[in-house]
Amino acid sequence: MIEFDSVTKVYPDGTTAIEDISFTVEEGTTTVLVGPSGCGKTTTMRLVNRLEEPTDGAVYFDGENTRSVDEIELRRNIGYVIQEIGLFDHMTVGENIATVPELKGWDEARIDDRIDELLELMALPREFRDQYPTELSGGQRQRVGVARALAADPDVLLMDEPFGALDPITRDDLQDEFLAIQDRINTTIIFVTHSINEALKMGDKIAIFDVGEIVQYDTPHEILANP
Ligand code: ADP
Ligand code: ADP
Repeated sequence: MIEFDSVTKVYPDGTTAIEDISFTVEEGTTTVLVGPSGCGKTTTMRLVNRLEEPTDGAVYFDGENTRSVDEIELRRNIGYVIQEIGLFDHMTVGENIATVPELKGWDEARIDDRIDELLELMALPREFRDQYPTELSGGQRQRVGVARALAADPDVLLMDEPFGALDPITRDDLQDEFLAIQDRINTTIIFVTHSINEALKMGDKIAIFDVGEIVQYDTPHEILANP
């Protein structure tokens, strides 16, 4: 589904964020990129939706080099959730969720149904669709962020420390709920965290990063057996 082939990223200021990274993400699985701050996880994730371009090597999406895929088209098929979710504060929750479906030209009735479906999926009350993000708690906003990223049934969902800014109890709840809905959404997920506990809990596969490289890439079971 997604393949990194000997990818190196050097930023314009000369920082080498990742060096010669290769790994494959299988369709329908959750792959977690885990490691301390600054080791290249976010850079790796942003290479998938072309918010960054490789300096060397290539990233393939369904067998096609992402360099030759239209960026806008690529991003419509790849949902993106970040820690401090960039919800549009001047738009209601419903309008936020509708953004990508509208870009894709879905008709109003279909978008309307989809908003209700996603609010239900993320355990948010239906009334929230007419409220503004600033009226919600941090955990609720993050649920809306996930709902918005899933709105147009993306093939891939990128999640960069999605629960990182939440208090431990809310984070735990959201992890559990997200695990429970993974089968329903049937999306390939790449998940970034610095928490090995979160990685072991959420991942089908885990890529352990050390400065700029992947030092282990395996199932949680294998990682626990061969630390
Ligand atoms: P992580 O997600 O693991 O915290 P990042 O991918 O954000 O790591 O960063 C990897 C390295 O690249 C770090 O040394 C970071 O400072 C550097 N870096 C990230 N973004 C940029 C940028 N836009 N310009 C220069 N250096 C950057
Ligand atoms: P747990 O695995 O128990 O959830 P974490 O690994 O998330 O614990 O770490 C606990 C707290 O420490 C987090 O809330 C986070 O804010 C902070 N923390 C740990 N490692 C880092 C890091 N590399 N960068 C930033 N914050 C960190």
